[in-house]
Amino acid sequence: MRKMFLFICVLALLLPVLAFGQSQKPADVIHTGAGDVAITFLGHASLMLQWHGKVIHIDPWTAQADYTVLPKADLILITHEHRDHLDTAAIDAIRKPGTVIASSLKASATLRDAIVLKNGMTKELAGLRVDAVPAYNRVHMRSGSEPYHPRGQGNGYVLHFGATRIYVAGDTEDIPEMAALAGVDVAFLPVNLPYTMDIDMLDKAARLLRPKILYPYHTGDTDMNAVAARLRNLPGVETRIRPMR
Ligand code: ZN
Ligand code: ZN
Repeated sequence: MRKMFLFICVLALLLPVLAFGQSQKPADVIHTGAGDVAITFLGHASLMLQWHGKVIHIDPWTAQADYTVLPKADLILITHEHRDHLDTAAIDAIRKPGTVIASSLKASATLRDAIVLKNGMTKELAGLRVDAVPAYNRVHMRSGSEPYHPRGQGNGYVLHFGATRIYVAGDTEDIPEMAALAGVDVAFLPVNLPYTMDIDMLDKAARLLRPKILYPYHTGDTDMNAVAARLRNLPGVETRIRPMR
């Protein structure tokens, strides 16, 4: 009897760990005008947002998390077609009947039923206003004059939670279009070479955007101590380094 009791006690202690193993991934709660948004940092460009029971996955990639144990998505946003952003295995693991998927035009060719968002479009998706904004390279080229991310193809997304805006930039450099997003509340900005920004570009983008909270993401081998040092004295901007390699 006593053994049984002990067994039940141990099981009771273990169950939350087993059930929420993935929630071991770091998470932050952002207080917005429309309620709290929990952001789970799955890694690289993969994020999960939870808001009023809704689950939003952005660029899910199986290299970053075991998606079979993560909450199913109400909304999946794909920024562009590169394999670290568009992974059909991850999407299949988190989709359920009614999941809304939205992506760039090029990414939609791989997806069965994605809503296509082009730069400049705004849509209400799963009860959330989403703006698709430009994401591209001005400087870093694949070879010759072909940018890693040509202008007009990939998206960044601005998610509106009431008056609070969360900007997930996608694979981009500091681009003039960011000026129109000045004052966003939260910004996820990529910083890894050669695909996205170097630290100088990140600094310029941060000065253009002046987000209240800045999360560098898609960080690759970038020296995050150097990133933190550079952004430390940006007035009004709180830079938060999370494991988003
Ligand atoms: Zn890319
Ligand atoms: Zn990428």
